[in-house]
Amino acid sequence: MPADPDCLFCKIVAGELPATIVDSDDRTVAFMDINPATRGHALVVPREHAADLLAISEDDLGACARAAQRLARRAKDRLGADGINLLNSSGVAAWQTVFHFHIHVVPRYDGDPLELPWTPAPGDEAEIAAAAQELTA
Ligand code: AMP
Ligand code: ZN
Repeated sequence: MPADPDCLFCKIVAGELPATIVDSDDRTVAFMDINPATRGHALVVPREHAADLLAISEDDLGACARAAQRLARRAKDRLGADGINLLNSSGVAAWQTVFHFHIHVVPRYDGDPLELPWTPAPGDEAEIAAAAQELTA
């Protein structure tokens, strides 16, 4: 698999950096966002490095979309989410900060205070781990 040695998410995919993985298949890995916008916020990434929406292959894009749907279902069934936002940022102008394609799967709860774009802030590690346990297949 091609990997960009300078890419944070390639290192997570390769197991070289820690992450709380909640789903994986032959093309994708999903892990908890360390700055969760809401409880259960996860990121789906392709195993193969692609910088953004314009660079990712159609097959990997489809696989990421299917993985995002899996997580959305679990967020509803297991976390009690009332809705889900899928978000992809491609390009600095669109708020992208990590240049390995990813889909944010953001569970939404009736009345939650989230506004876009949110200001990233570190989440409570134990709380992220608890949500991850519920999300993990
Ligand atoms: P974006 O700004 O759309 O490129 O999203 C990048 C996301 O990656 C942000 O929500 C960050 O909180 C998240 N993030 C950055 N580093 C890590 C990491 N080591 N593990 C998990 N999520 C991360
Ligand atoms: Zn990468």
